[in-house]
Amino acid sequence: MVSDSDFQSTYTVDAQRFELSNALQTTLEFKKLLTIFSSKINSLIPHNAYAYSNTLFDMEINQGVVSKYSCSYALKAGDQELGELTLMRNHKFVDEELDLLENLLCLLLYPLKNTTLYHQALKMAATDQLTQTLNRVSFNDTVKREMNSAKLNGTDLSIIFLDIDHFKDINDQYGHDCGDSTLVAVARLIKETLRKSDTIFRFGGEEFVILVSQMDLENAELLARRIRTAIECNILVYDMKPIKVTASLGVSTLHSDDSFDTFIKRADHAMYKAKGKGRNQVVLAY
Ligand code: GH3
Ligand code: MG
Ligand code: MG
Repeated sequence: MVSDSDFQSTYTVDAQRFELSNALQTTLEFKKLLTIFSSKINSLIPHNAYAYSNTLFDMEINQGVVSKYSCSYALKAGDQELGELTLMRNHKFVDEELDLLENLLCLLLYPLKNTTLYHQALKMAATDQLTQTLNRVSFNDTVKREMNSAKLNGTDLSIIFLDIDHFKDINDQYGHDCGDSTLVAVARLIKETLRKSDTIFRFGGEEFVILVSQMDLENAELLARRIRTAIECNILVYDMKPIKVTASLGVSTLHSDDSFDTFIKRADHAMYKAKGKGRNQVVLAY
C-alpha cells in the first residue's frame, strides 16, 4: 500500500533528483561540482563534510568539518576511474540513507566523467608528451600567477633555467632516440630533486625551467647545485654505451620591482653565463 506520506516523500525526492541533475550540468570544475552535490543532497542525507580524492590529478578536496562516521564510494563510469567520495557526520549513516545515496550518486557519475575528461584534455594540452613535464602553453600564465601571489603575500619565488650541455653532440654521435632518452632521464632527475609544490617546464628543445615558490636565492642555488650534481653523476646507458650528460644552470629570485620579462631574463642570462664560463655549472643572478 502506498500512503500519502509515501507519495509526498517520493515526490519530494523526485523533484530533488531533477533539481540535482540540472545543477550538476552547470560546471566542469571538480570542487564546484562536488559542493553542488553535497549541498543539494544535504536535506535528504544530512552530513557535515565531504572529502574527494582523485589520483589522476593528484587532487584532494576537503570541505566542512571532519567527523567521526563516514561512508566512502570509489566512483567509476565504465573503465573511467572518477575518484573517491566520502561523506562524514557525527552519527552513523543508516541503510536507507546509503541506498538513497547510492541512487543519487548515479546522477553524479556522468557530470563527473565529463569533468574528468575535460581536465584530462587540459592536462594533455599543457604536458610535453616526451618528458611528462609542462610545456610552454601554461608557462606565462603560471609564472605571472606565482609572481602575483609572491608579491601579494611577501613570499620568495625563485626560478632556475637549465640547458643540457652539447646536446647536439649526443644526437649526432648516438642518434635522435638516444637524445630523446637523455631528455627523459634529465627530466626524471630534476623531478626527483624537487618538492611537490615546484613546477618544471620543458621550455624548449633541451632547456627546462623550474619554478620554485617560497624559496630564496640561497636555497634555490643549493637546489640548482643538487640538480647539476644529480645529472653529472647519473650514468645514462644507451645501447650498452655510457653517455656523459651535464647541464648549465642559471638561478634568480623575484625582486619587488620585477616585471615578467626582467624576472625571466635574469635567470636566462645567468644560464648563458654558465655556458660562457665552461658549462656544467650554476650561476646566480642577483
Ligand atoms: P650548448 O651546450 O651550447 O647548449 O649546446 P647544445 O648542443 O646543447 O645546443 P644547440 O642549441 O646547438 O643544440 C640543441 C639540439 O637539441 C639541436 C636539436 O636538434 C636538439 N633537439 C631539440 N629538441 C629535441 C628533441 O625533442 N629530441 C632530440 N633528440 N633532440 C632535440
Ligand atoms: Mg644545450
Ligand atoms: Mg638550448
